[in-house]
Amino acid sequence: MLRLPQFQVAAPETLEEVVEALRATPDARLIAGGTDILPNLKHKLEAPPRLITLGRVKALRGITRDDAAGVLRIGAGVRLATIASDPTVGALFPSLAKSAGLVASPTIRNMATIGGNVNLDVRCRYVNQTDFWREGIGGGCLKSEGDVCHVVPKGRNCVAAMSSDNVPVLISLDASLLLVGPSGEREVAMADYYRADGTNHTKAEPGELTAEVRIPLPKGPRKTDYVKWAVRKSIDFPLVSVALRVDLDGEGAEAPSEAKITDVRVVVGVLGARPREVKKLDGALGRTLADPEVAALVSEAAFKQCKPLPNVPYDPAYRRQMIRVYTRRALAAMAS
Ligand SMILES: Cc1cc2nc3c(=O)[nH]c(=O)nc-3n(C[C@H](O)[C@H](O)[C@H](O)COP(=O)(O)OP(=O)(O)OC[C@H]3O[C@@H](n4cnc5c(N)ncnc54)[C@H](O)[C@@H]3O)c2cc1C
Ligand code: SF4
Repeated sequence: MLRLPQFQVAAPETLEEVVEALRATPDARLIAGGTDILPNLKHKLEAPPRLITLGRVKALRGITRDDAAGVLRIGAGVRLATIASDPTVGALFPSLAKSAGLVASPTIRNMATIGGNVNLDVRCRYVNQTDFWREGIGGGCLKSEGDVCHVVPKGRNCVAAMSSDNVPVLISLDASLLLVGPSGEREVAMADYYRADGTNHTKAEPGELTAEVRIPLPKGPRKTDYVKWAVRKSIDFPLVSVALRVDLDGEGAEAPSEAKITDVRVVVGVLGARPREVKKLDGALGRTLADPEVAALVSEAAFKQCKPLPNVPYDPAYRRQMIRVYTRRALAAMAS
């Protein structure tokens, strides 16, 4: 049986109390649903003296459409099951409702929060193991007890994989995070929040927490999707994940598939510690989703620019092919 280490628990009720609790115990860790951090504690990947539970903080709850600011606000403490079934999220951001509904299992989605999901630790086949297992490969790696990387043996950076289902989608939707800390509030674009370093993969400052996810309301017609490949569909983390957003010119088109494309966003997860936004998609602009060239050139760009690593199970070359296949299929489905 895997045992939890001993720790104290603080249960603040306001954001100010959370910030104060983090100031009082800088080595303390936040816990929301606990579905990521508790397994990591059992695997002895960390041993904080205190956990600060966010479960009682009412300011982190609720989904609000704010038309004056032009954003949908999702409190960091909102459960993934709520996001997956929320009618406003489903109508405005179907790819987010889909990605939230594809996380893990119903039981986990009922516990897991969006704040925990956007701050999910990066994952690697060599580190998300028991300490006994890690001892067996010579005492861990850069992200645990060791000083080498087993994925890129000569590398100096940990390239563990960003495995959140929602992060690529939120980046594709231009979402930002409201962070609250000792210096007050600040908003950071999710596209800028992640570092390419698995030992310190977010730009949150010491003592900061995520209070809210803000997603700009759509300004015109668009299609979005999220595609995930995992071995066991009902529980596994993604091994391939692609978020897509296609903005359309609503003028004069009889069907969305006939509307001219004004922007294409493709964000791929499960590569390194930071999701990758696929670039050089201008060739799709001015075309329509019904044009087969669009799916061909966007999926080819995704294939060329994304190189999966052996940091998670399954052959990287196969996963790379599947990025192309899933991107092409998603765009074809948008056209139908
Ligand atoms: C069997 C299993 C399968 C899973 N499958 C998937 C999957 O398919 N896709 C997926 O995306 N995830 C998956 N997960 C991981 C996890 O369940 C989700 O990512 C979940 O959303 C984490 O949220 P949580 O509230 O439980 O986070 P917690 O475990 O409470 O916290 C996770 C991390 O976020 C930090 N944190 C929490 N809230 C905040 C906040 N407000 N501000 C700053 N930091 C914060 C914590 O300190 C911790 O470092 C799986 C987990 C398990 C156990
Ligand atoms: S990528 Fe390398 S350093 Fe990072 S967790 Fe995996 S083996 Fe360890």
